[in-house]
Amino acid sequence: MNICNTKNTIMNISIAIHGGAGTILASKMTNELEANYRKGLQDALNIGYDILKQGGSSLDAVEASVKSMEDFPLFNAGKGSVFNNKGAHEMDASIMYGKTLEAGAVSSVSNIKNPIVLAKTIMQKSEHVFLCKEGAEEFAKLNGIEFENDAYFYNDTRYQQWQEIKDSDTFQLDHTDNKHDKKFGTVGAVALDKEGNLSAATSTGGMTNKKFGRVGDTPMIGAGTYANNNTCAVSCTGHGELFIRSVVAYDISCLMEYKGMSLSEACKFVVHDKLIKIGGEGGIIAIDKNANICLDFNSEGMYRASVDKDGKEFIAIYKN
Ligand code: ASP
Repeated sequence: MNICNTKNTIMNISIAIHGGAGTILASKMTNELEANYRKGLQDALNIGYDILKQGGSSLDAVEASVKSMEDFPLFNAGKGSVFNNKGAHEMDASIMYGKTLEAGAVSSVSNIKNPIVLAKTIMQKSEHVFLCKEGAEEFAKLNGIEFENDAYFYNDTRYQQWQEIKDSDTFQLDHTDNKHDKKFGTVGAVALDKEGNLSAATSTGGMTNKKFGRVGDTPMIGAGTYANNNTCAVSCTGHGELFIRSVVAYDISCLMEYKGMSLSEACKFVVHDKLIKIGGEGGIIAIDKNANICLDFNSEGMYRASVDKDGKEFIAIYKN
């Protein structure tokens, strides 16, 4: 008996990840860079999927996949986080468990190696959902969360991106190097485990030259991240202000719960209709309780990957 096939068939597990919506223009992408991005996605996908295959929880799987991308310098989260308008890194992250609706979130933290680990620890070890800044950092210290010095987060490319706009009043999504080349940063993962539990996790460095103290959609439960066993798990990437105003992740869940839409109908409506109408560029990854996967975006591309319930793997950057 082939254990792996048996597991895949019986377990009904699946996972999807993203490394940001909007991408470097295809014309500017080199083979080497593309191979690097794909490796970052592949590694993160494998780590999360292995946990699910071994019978682990979706919560552990999404945490592990996001942590892997936080450690990968090309993605705008953790180590690869962009600079804010003071030349510092302020990171946001959140995680949610669909079985219990428990959630953990953190915003505007510096020097935390893996903000997603901190978000999960807040969920599991504090009576709160959301901690920010020094309070979150103090909680991190007390709970043995790993810190790194500023040098760990320094990256020449990110520094140049900041230098180009630092004296202006503008802020930009990761890798916007001209009006036509936008890349949204942020990483995220959604998963369904063998017990039928859904989880979602998202982590970001935000936007280059963002105002000190600015918080995007990523750590906001319901905007950038949401999971509910009755409906779906969602992780977003894109222009955070518009995603907050559209309460994107919860909206997708609500359209399923209250309007009876399928996952793909709900995602399509939010990404290609509601968001477009208010100028919200970006994308989402989502999985429903039946292991259906949706990877949808209204930008030029989205770094994305998934393994479906039949064990079929998919990795892509641009529109097909
Ligand atoms: N949504 C993130 C934010 O606004 C940015 C991104 O997805 O790239 O902070």
